[in-house]
Amino acid sequence: MLDVRGLSAAYGQHPALNEVSLSVRPGEIVVILGANGAGKSTLLRAIAGICEGRVSGQVMLNGASLTALNSDQIVEQGVAPEGRAIFGDLTVKENLLLGAYSARARADEAQNLERVLNLFPKLIERQTQIARTMSGGEQQMVAIGRAMMSAPDILMLDEPSLGLSPLLCRELFQNLAVVKDLGIGVLLVEQNAKQSLAIADRGYLLENTRITREDSAAQLRSDPSVQKAFLGANNTTRNQPPPQTIETQPVEPRFTPGPALPRRSAEQLIGGSIEDLISSASEASTRALTSPSSSSVKQAEKVAQSRLESVLKDIESAAATARRQRPSSRPTYAASPSPQPVPHEDGPPPPVVEIYKRPHVEVFRRRPSGQFERE
Ligand code: ATP
Repeated sequence: MLDVRGLSAAYGQHPALNEVSLSVRPGEIVVILGANGAGKSTLLRAIAGICEGRVSGQVMLNGASLTALNSDQIVEQGVAPEGRAIFGDLTVKENLLLGAYSARARADEAQNLERVLNLFPKLIERQTQIARTMSGGEQQMVAIGRAMMSAPDILMLDEPSLGLSPLLCRELFQNLAVVKDLGIGVLLVEQNAKQSLAIADRGYLLENTRITREDSAAQLRSDPSVQKAFLGANNTTRNQPPPQTIETQPVEPRFTPGPALPRRSAEQLIGGSIEDLISSASEASTRALTSPSSSSVKQAEKVAQSRLESVLKDIESAAATARRQRPSSRPTYAASPSPQPVPHEDGPPPPVVEIYKRPHVEVFRRRPSGQFERE
């Protein structure tokens, strides 16, 4: 169990977290709700040992103090922060395996990988894909999967739904429910209060650096003040002036409306489920991006190849020009003779700035042996 007692953090003179206490039990999803700047990310960073500010208070995991540990040691103890950044040039599998670097996870690397792939089956066929070529939602899956590879007791997620389409968002929250079923405690910071409260067990409201309320997710969901602040109720009218009544003259209608048509839902109009349509479009675009026979991929490869060739040509011609212009003896770097200060009638002479001339370009060529030689 994660137990946080009186955690405070400040950036210089600016307090960002004030005496925050909370707990997360195994297999429990706890959500932190708060406005922008309330201190939510600072809270997660302080627990993970990566807060740039000054931190005080107690963080305990299963009875052991994490307070004096560095971030690696905290992961080693079983608290995994999800880092949204992935290693774009590595494959999906390499990214995942990097998550198993901690000693607690290394021995069970294969088993953890299997667990992550079970959790995100979409990653199974993408293991060899270069991570930066994946969509935002897929990259998010990799980031969470990588955090899961450290076999954590507690998984901390900072707005994992940020930037995801509604469909991927729903999928993400369903996956978190599966993580919970594995007995892992999840501490979740989310702007998407509706979906996060739907899967959470408990929640805390963090307002202006302090916890102002702790309750069950069900209570928070049904509370009108929480609905108003975080669930969108009346949000559209919150900052708007009261509607004005404008006296108008009756206006002659320009056309006469015909008989009302029967209302039909969008699904009736397209003759199927919108979700099916979106997921088949998403699958088609994924196939187009990943299929080696795809003409769009071939076209992109062709363009990249011709760009590369043209860049190489430019480099070769710049090198040839530099060779032609090279003086027969090695250049000297002597500074130009210092100019004498010009006498100035109205005060001290202006400062003399020495100017070094003749910029020199040296050209190196890499030999097949891998050694660099000056041309
Ligand atoms: P958001 O929902 O907008 O991400 P948040 O609740 O996560 O907000 P934090 O990122 O924790 O808020 O920031 C809390 C306060 O601390 C803010 O006023 C922010 O400007 C400040 N802050 C955060 N990180 C730093 C930092 N590295 N240096 C200085 N001030 C910081």
